[in-house]
Amino acid sequence: MSIYETGAIKSLKAGELLMQEGEKGDCAYIIETGSVEILIDRDGAEQIIGTRGAGALLGEMAMIDDQPRTASVRAVEDCSVLVISREDFARRTESADPILRMVTKVILTRYRDMLGRSRLVVDPPGTAANGDADAASLETDQELRDLAVNTIKIYHELKHGLQNGELQLYYQPIIDLESSRIAGFEALARWIHPEKGMISPGVFIPVAEESGLIVEISRWALDESCKAVKHLEQFNDGAAPLFISVNFSVHDFSDRDFLHHVTAIMEKNKTPPAHIHLEITESLLMEKPHVAKEALEKCRAYGFEISIDDFGTGYSSLSYLHSFPIDTLKIDQSFIRSMMAQHSSFQLVKSIIALAKNLDMRVIAEGIEHPEEAAELHKLSCEYCQGFWFAKPQPLEEAAALLQNWSPPVYQTGKAAGSK
Ligand code: C2E
Ligand code: CA
Ligand code: CA
Repeated sequence: MSIYETGAIKSLKAGELLMQEGEKGDCAYIIETGSVEILIDRDGAEQIIGTRGAGALLGEMAMIDDQPRTASVRAVEDCSVLVISREDFARRTESADPILRMVTKVILTRYRDMLGRSRLVVDPPGTAANGDADAASLETDQELRDLAVNTIKIYHELKHGLQNGELQLYYQPIIDLESSRIAGFEALARWIHPEKGMISPGVFIPVAEESGLIVEISRWALDESCKAVKHLEQFNDGAAPLFISVNFSVHDFSDRDFLHHVTAIMEKNKTPPAHIHLEITESLLMEKPHVAKEALEKCRAYGFEISIDDFGTGYSSLSYLHSFPIDTLKIDQSFIRSMMAQHSSFQLVKSIIALAKNLDMRVIAEGIEHPEEAAELHKLSCEYCQGFWFAKPQPLEEAAALLQNWSPPVYQTGKAAGSK
């Protein structure tokens, strides 16, 4: 922790160092009076890369982490500087509006990347390489501004859209390959923007996750899914209850009252938990494994089933499969896409199915676009499939009609790479 509290004033004599390249920083500074020079070490030789005067902010990267300082700062003349400690910065941003939080985080993180990249190519002034570095950093600056502006716009419009009912859930059937019946649906969010038309979740979900809006979206999605499952269940002629799989994010679990909110929605709708599956991606799960484990255990105890989405893409150790309460693995569509042509993908799909069976988990293959894939997965004893070949995600009424008039599609057997 810094010995200086925010607001403390530090005086420097000409020639004195304010910060040293390579040391860990925990505060930023604002120059009140005087001026400083910024230096970097180039193969043991000092290189001055700029000077700053009153009003300049220095060492701001220490506001996000304790990575080593990327430059030294030395007083050119006697200076007075104001200290901003990281703790104080964190306190202030935590209570700030989410836009401010998000933009600050995006800007500082991008800025660190930009600094890292441009430092790699900085050459002494006047050389050709330096020109390239300037061009590169200018471009990154532009990208940074565009990203921040775009993110803010999406956030504002999304928040407004959420309140104004512009979000809709589409339902994509999940097929039981053995019975060829629809076993359940995955609920996928769509944003029907009044001017821009349909906006893909690939655009707005990341913004919702970064800004915290995802918590509101997840609750809305669960509420909608409870109503939808009640409607769809009338057309279910299978023995098992129809389920809807709702996508959740680990940010949802960070909320201490997560289970309380979720169960309140279930009770309000009088939905038995067997009708709802929670989906969480493998990579999000690994971001905060302890938080996720605790929340998932509570959800499982309540009666929800838990699916791991995009399985196989999270680059995580398989050992976590033991420690989390998991009912279903969803094989990522990238493996399905390549399994008919690539022997290694086929083997991977086969191994995931075997792994799931050995661990007493169910398996859903995602992204089935061709009948040959469905036939091959059936041969591999994969239990469930989901993909455009069966049906695309669609509005509730169309999903209900699909369920009512369901005629099982016919597979045309094909031969996958390496299949017997
Ligand atoms: P996901 O959860 O992996 O959802 C499956 C995605 O694959 C969906 O994209 C679906 O439309 C698409 N898909 C299904 N079958 C096929 C196929 O045969 N071929 C191809 N190429 N694609 C197929 P979508 O709806 O665009 O959603 C993208 C991602 O956005 C989702 O990936 C999920 O991560 C996220 N998402 C969507 N809705 C929500 C939500 O309500 N909450 C959260 N947290 N995330 C959501
Ligand atoms: Ca999903
Ligand atoms: Ca997926």
